[in-house]
Order: sequence, then C-alpha cells, then structure tokens
Amino acid sequence: MTARMQMGSNGLKCSRIIAGFWRLKNWNYSTQQLLDFIYQCLDVGVTTMDHADIYGDYSCESIFGKAITGKTALRDKMQIVTKCGIRLQNSENWPGVVHQHYNTGYDHIITSVERSLKNLNTDYIDVLLIHRPDALMDADETARAFDKLLKEGKVRYFGVSNFSPSQFNLLQSRLQQPLITNQIECSVSFLDPLHDRTLDQCQQLRVSPMAWSPLGGGNLFTDDSEKTGRIRNVLKTIGMEAGLNGQKTGEYGIDQVAIAWLLRHPSNIFPVLGTSKPERIRSAVDALEIMLSREQWYRIWSASTGTPVP
Ligand code: NAP
Repeated sequence: MTARMQMGSNGLKCSRIIAGFWRLKNWNYSTQQLLDFIYQCLDVGVTTMDHADIYGDYSCESIFGKAITGKTALRDKMQIVTKCGIRLQNSENWPGVVHQHYNTGYDHIITSVERSLKNLNTDYIDVLLIHRPDALMDADETARAFDKLLKEGKVRYFGVSNFSPSQFNLLQSRLQQPLITNQIECSVSFLDPLHDRTLDQCQQLRVSPMAWSPLGGGNLFTDDSEKTGRIRNVLKTIGMEAGLNGQKTGEYGIDQVAIAWLLRHPSNIFPVLGTSKPERIRSAVDALEIMLSREQWYRIWSASTGTPVP
C-alpha cells in the first residue's frame, strides 16, 4: 500500500498515516524532543500533522510552531491540517467566552485562521477543517470565509470533521472547491461511520476520510470490557496469522491489525494516530504492508458488533 496518497479527488498528497497532536501538551516534551519526534515521523514517511486551534486549551499549535520556527525546509516537507469552529469557555489562552459554543461565522473563521498561522509559525495551512457541525452554520457565510482564505493563499484545501452526510452536502453545495475530507471517529471499536452512511458518502464523492482515535484513544489496550476483550483476542489471533510479533510495540501486532482494518476499507481512510512514541508511529507505518482478507476483516467486524455476519 502506498505511503502517500491524494486526499480527495482533486486534493493534496498526504501521508496515509497521519500524526495527531491533540495530546501534545501532556507529552511535556522539550522543544528539542518535539523536533526529534517530528523528524522521526518524517523519516518514516509520516508527513501530515493534525492540529486544531483548541488543542491543549489553544496551546498545542504554538508548542508545535515554536519547534519548527525558522525551519522553512522542514515546514515544506509536511502538510499541516488544523481546525476551527469551537469556542472554549473560560480559556486562559483565548478568553472572553463563558458558555462553550460553535462558531462557523465569517469573522470567527478568519480570526481563528490568523491565530493558527501565527501560533504554528507558518504562512499557510494545507488543510483547514470545520471541527464540529454547527447548528447555526450559514453555509454561504462559511463559504465566503473559505474563498477569502483560499484567495489570499492562507489555506490550500478545506474539509470538515464529525459532519453527517447531509451537513457535508450542505456546505459543499455553497463551495467552488471540493471538500477533501471528513475527519471522523472510526476504529475497530467504533463502527458507526460504516453504518450511518458517512463512509458511503466518502466513497461516492471520492472524499478521503480521516479516522480519529484509530486505536480507540488507547482503550484498545487498557479497557477491560467484554467487547474490547473480544476485539483484542481477534486482533491478536489475526496478528499471529499474519506473522506479526509486535516487537516494536509489545502488543502482538494488535495496533497494526487495527490500523490495517481501517486501511482495508475502500474509501481510503487516513488514520490519525495520537501516540507520543516514535516506535508506535513506525509500527503503524508497517501496517501499510498488511492486506487483510475479507474474512479477517469481517471477523473483526463480528468481534466488535458482537454478532455473526447475518
Ligand atoms: P489513538 O491513536 O487512538 O490513541 C492514542 C492514545 O493511545 C495515546 O494515549 C497513546 O499513548 C495510546 N497508545 C497508542 N498505541 C498504544 C499501544 N501500542 N499501547 C498502549 N497505548 C497506546 O488516537 P487519539 O489520540 O485518541 O486521536 C488521534 C488524533 O486524532 C488526535 O491527536 C487528534 O489529532 C485527532 N482527533 C480529532 C478529533 C476530532 O474531533 N476531529 C477528536 C479526537 C482526536 P502513547 O502516547 O503512550 O503511545
């Protein structure tokens, strides 16, 4: 399987495995440790970096931006994804809000992107996503903000996150350029997008989904529920069948099979990892070599749903 792939039909080449920085603040990395982490991602072909303005109470973008300051060549080797549209309450870093809400209005999008550019220390964002559906979204107004950002070269491509197919269609209907992604929760333990038409729509429109929490946010390894136990057992068995020994992660290839399960879907899912550990990034990249059979894929589906295939 290819390590880089075009995102969307007319989109940008991104790494099939994406590094996510939601948890960056908790890693407590020094600037040099973060820089080393970024270089290790790039070394194994993980060139796409996922952010959001709100991560770490609006602090993660600037932690990342500090690490890449003055490194133009490094910036050009990566694709930066970031998001806007959520206003956190009682934030230290962007005060003034007492009740959390969504805002996809023109002024908010422009202000948020200007802040992201400054925090990330960059002149352009490769992909801007609307973070969550906003019940008050006026699609004409959101489209007007996108057009301005595109014209000014501040954002190259656009997408959404956590949108239903109809919310996606609404915004797309007002845009000249195609939305290239819908970033959604999807994993062996969270199958909703397979059954609620989200992935059908992605395949139909050749929109590439990104899957957040592709390892269940880590629950896959720690959760002791019956469902997760069942999934773990099947992943482990299939990992053994595939000759995986989990040397890099000590998990018998559970992580790799879980990622391979996402990669096997014909909508061309881009998993967004949340790990702080370079060896776990490398392990996920190795999953690009694993091609699950239909039977293996459906064994995992059955373990997750707790039902046989009807
Ligand atoms: P994840 O990869 O499912 O979970 C990451 C967590 O799992 C980390 O705590 C990691 O700990 C742990 N982990 C990974 N491999 C492990 C292993 N082999 N054994 C034990 N623990 C392991 O993803 P996520 O962090 O929940 O989300 C990934 C990214 O998706 C985020 O960074 C963010 O960019 C994006 N996201 C987007 C949305 C949205 O609404 N659009 C929502 C949530 C997340 P270590 O660091 O110790 O490896």
